[in-house]
Amino acid sequence: MNSVLRYSSEEIVWQEVPGETSLAYTITGCPVGCKGCHSVDTWPTGSGIELLPDYFSQRLHDYQGLITCVLFLGGEWHPAALQTLLKITKAQGLKTCLYTGLESVPSYLERELDYLKTGPWIASRGGLDSRATNQRFMHLSSGELLNVRFWE
Ligand code: SF4
Repeated sequence: MNSVLRYSSEEIVWQEVPGETSLAYTITGCPVGCKGCHSVDTWPTGSGIELLPDYFSQRLHDYQGLITCVLFLGGEWHPAALQTLLKITKAQGLKTCLYTGLESVPSYLERELDYLKTGPWIASRGGLDSRATNQRFMHLSSGELLNVRFWE
């Protein structure tokens, strides 16, 4: 019933998507449950602020010319709501990225994404800056694995 994405933070980031200036939303309610997650405070469903399409469109307008990409840190658990916001982003000529703790997302979401980070957090293997990581950062249209960009 709750199909609206909610977010706990909205910020501009440079490192999460190499080569892009991204408006990043941390989406609350992640159900993956990684041991050692640094964002446990964002797990509760219903926490955070609603990320409604009208507000989101206004933010893209506010940041016009300043950002090149929108990054969603989670949100695939409400795929229809996420798809709507991804379509709005693409319609503005911006790139899109999703960080998910899952190994894959539905193809209808992939179609709206330029970049996709997959895989849960496993402390012993580290994140994208670790060569031992289980996580993958893909440029979807080329199929290129971009993990190396996090090692530079
Ligand atoms: S996917 Fe990310 S936010 Fe979700 S539990 Fe794992 S590390 Fe935490």
